[in-house]
Order: sequence, then C-alpha cells, then structure tokens
Amino acid sequence: MKFSLRSKLSLSYVLVALVCVLLISILMNNFLEKQFQDYIIKNQERKSNEIVQLISRQFREKGTWDDMVIENIGVNALEQGMIVKVRNSAGETVWDATVHNNGMCMQMIEHMSRNMMSYNPNWQGGYMENTHPVVSDFKNVGTVQIGYYGPYYFNDTDLAFISALNNVLLVVGGISLLLALLTGTLMAKRLSQPISRVITTARMISKGYYDARVAEKSSTKEIGQLTDTVNDLAETLGKQEVLRKRLTGDVAHELRTPLATLQSHLEAMIDGIWAADADRLKSCHEEVIRINGLVGELERLAHYESEKLVLNRTRFDASELIRQILKSYEIEFLNKNIKIEFIGKEEILLGDRDKISQALINLVSNAAKYTPEGGQVQLGVSGDGCEVTISVRDNGAGIPEEDIPFIFERFYRADKSRNRMTGGSGIGLTIAKSLIEAHKGRVTVQSKVGEGTEFRVIIPKGVKE
Ligand code: ADP
Repeated sequence: MKFSLRSKLSLSYVLVALVCVLLISILMNNFLEKQFQDYIIKNQERKSNEIVQLISRQFREKGTWDDMVIENIGVNALEQGMIVKVRNSAGETVWDATVHNNGMCMQMIEHMSRNMMSYNPNWQGGYMENTHPVVSDFKNVGTVQIGYYGPYYFNDTDLAFISALNNVLLVVGGISLLLALLTGTLMAKRLSQPISRVITTARMISKGYYDARVAEKSSTKEIGQLTDTVNDLAETLGKQEVLRKRLTGDVAHELRTPLATLQSHLEAMIDGIWAADADRLKSCHEEVIRINGLVGELERLAHYESEKLVLNRTRFDASELIRQILKSYEIEFLNKNIKIEFIGKEEILLGDRDKISQALINLVSNAAKYTPEGGQVQLGVSGDGCEVTISVRDNGAGIPEEDIPFIFERFYRADKSRNRMTGGSGIGLTIAKSLIEAHKGRVTVQSKVGEGTEFRVIIPKGVKE
C-alpha cells in the first residue's frame, strides 16, 4: 500500500506529538505524585511534632495536665485530620478525641479513605497510630498518641489540585496534537506541491515536450536540486532532440551534394551530352571516393562511440607522439608558412597510442586548416602526478562563442558555409572527443574569434610515476 507524502508526514507529526504528550503526562504524574507524597508525609510529621510540642509545653508550664488546653489542642488537631490521645505517666487517659467526638473521628477516617479510593481504587493505606513521649525535667510524664490516615492522604484541595493538573495536561495534549496535525499538513503541502509540479513537468518531458520547465524555486535544498536536475534534463534532451533532427538533415545534406553531382555527370554521359572519357569518369570516381570517405568516417565514429571499443594500452611518451605527428604535418604547415612551436618534456602514459594519436591528428589538422598563412601553432605537453595535458593552440580564425558548445557534435561546423573543401565533414572533433573519453579523459576548448583557439586534451596517466 502506498501513502502520499502528505499523509505520511502528517501522521508522523501526530505520532511524535502523541508520544511526547504521553511521555510528559507519565513523567509529570510520576514525578509530581512522588514530590507531592513526600511533601504530605513531611507535613504530617511536622504537624504531629507541633502537637506533641504544644502538649509538652502545656505540661511544663503548669506541672500538671490542663484538660481545657489539651482539649483545645486535640479539637484543633481533629480538624486537621489527626486523632489525639493523651495519657499520663501511669497510662491513664487524660484526653481522647474518640471519646470527645467519636462520630466525627469515624466520619473523618471514612472521608479520607473515600478520597484515597477515588484517587486510586487499589489504595493500600489505612488508619495508623504513632505514640510520642512527653518529657518534662528529663522525666517521662506521659504519651501523646496521634492517629491519622497513612502513610499519607489527599484532602479535597489536594485532589482538586491533582485533577486540575490532569485537566491542564489533557488540554495541552489536545492542543499539541492539533498543532502537530496542522503543522504536519502544512509542511507536507509545502513539500508535496513542488514535487507534484516536478512530476507533472517530468511527465510532459517524457511525452516529448522538452521545453517544459519547473518554474518555481523551492526553499528546500533537495527539492531545489531536484527541480534544477529536471530542468537540466529537459534542456539536455531538448538539445539532443535538436541534434538528432539536425543529424538526419546533415547526413542527407552531406550525401546529396556528391550524389547530385554524380547523378548529373552520369546522366549527361548516358544522354551522350558528355563523352564518357577518362577525365569525366575520374571526376565521378572522386565523388564516389568522397561519399565513401564520409560513410567511412561515420562508421569509424559509430565504432569509437560503441561500447565495444577495445583499447590496446601500451606505455608511451606523449611528447614523442606529438613530435611524430608534427613530422607528418610538416609539409602542410610549411606550405602555409605556419610557424610551429613545441614545448614539452617526456610524459609517459598508459593508453591506446593509435587512438590517442588519431584524436591529436584531428586537432593538429584542424589547427593547420583554420590557421591562415603566416600564422602560428603552438603545441605543449605537460603533466602532474596523475594527468597529462596536451595543448594545441593556434592564432587562426577562432570559433564564435555561440558555436563552442556544439563543435564536438557530429557534422557541426562553426562556419556553416558547408564548404567541404575547407571545412571537412564536421566529424573530426566528435571522433577526437570519443577517443579521449574512452581513455577517461576530456577535451576542453578556449577560443576567441580573430585571436585563435586552444584545445586541451587531458588524459589520466594510468601509470605510477
Ligand atoms: P571539420 O571537419 O569541419 O574540421 P571538426 O569536427 O574537426 O570538423 O570541427 C568542427 C568545427 O569546429 C569546424 O567546422 C570548425 O568550424 C571548428 N573548429 C575546429 N577546430 C578549429 C580551430 N582550430 N580553429 C577554428 N575553428 C575550429
């Protein structure tokens, strides 16, 4: 069974509040009851001592028992719930509350017992008696026996206080539960609303509406991250969709030009307009080679991008590889009068030398292609503990800022002139990127129109120094 975030959160808030209220009630009841009991027991002792003191003082002052004074003390004690009995040193009764007013004594004990039973039906207490000696001039002159309901009892005021306390606890508990329910529902609403919006947007994205976005910003960190991620996802999918559509158009475009040339040449020859001589056939052959080359590059790219790409890793020096590549491009740079500069020391890395070489060739050939005559190309190899950085920098045409995010996409050409003679097929950088990424590396680019371009290939060394 699945519960909504709202009901789960509200329920957990209520549960926490319930547990807290219960705990507080139990603790309060136990703690307060204990304190209250102690207080009442001490109070009882204090009152008993006071009565004994009063009776002792009376004897000491007069040297004999004064019935009137003792009766006063005894009646006073009776009103406070204590049954006093005074005996002289011979054990004869001087004054006895039960004799004075037995009815009131019985009624009082009964009332106390009823009070305690109403407080706790399993109450185990009962009537108790304590005997205290009366001393005058270091002689025992008699005893005071104090009877009370023990070990303690609650009078009407005490019971009213306890009941008021419990009522306060009940009200506080009720208010806490209500508040918990309200806060829980409110919090849940605040949390679930943006999530619901994210779900709606994600559904729209899954249906192909890639321009759907979650507009609201959430103050909850995780929800903010979720919103940003879904928006990024939509953007990436949107970009992919545009590229996918463009890819089909681009493949068609790339193939159409040579195929159209080929078709018109062949038709002209079939119709007898052109003689099928060696020159014409050679031009047709060149177009076929161009188409074949393009298809070959696409095949290669598909292979490099496939999961099955096998890397034949060997240890080699990146600087030595760059020198070798430069040697094969020497004539090209010389023809365009481009100055070449290389700075680098030995940097050993473990990787597929041929594939890394292929990626670097694509960068170097681009530098040669997009640097005008008399320009300059700088290459560099550097490394730290774990990575090797190879840079290819030119002072050529540069790439417009808006094209930079797309130049690694297949068939993308910044110049858009689609001049296949200068611009190539637009696959070179895509291939370079997949080959370097197969080595867990990355390719970065920095460029400014009119100033030049720098590509950096960063590859993990894969070897310990
Ligand atoms: P292409 O075969 O067109 O060179 P790439 O994938 O190698 O294809 O490059 C894609 C696009 O990036 C190029 O068409 C070009 O516009 C731009 N580009 C690549 N390298 C450079 C460079 N060194 N200087 C200026 N523009 C470049």
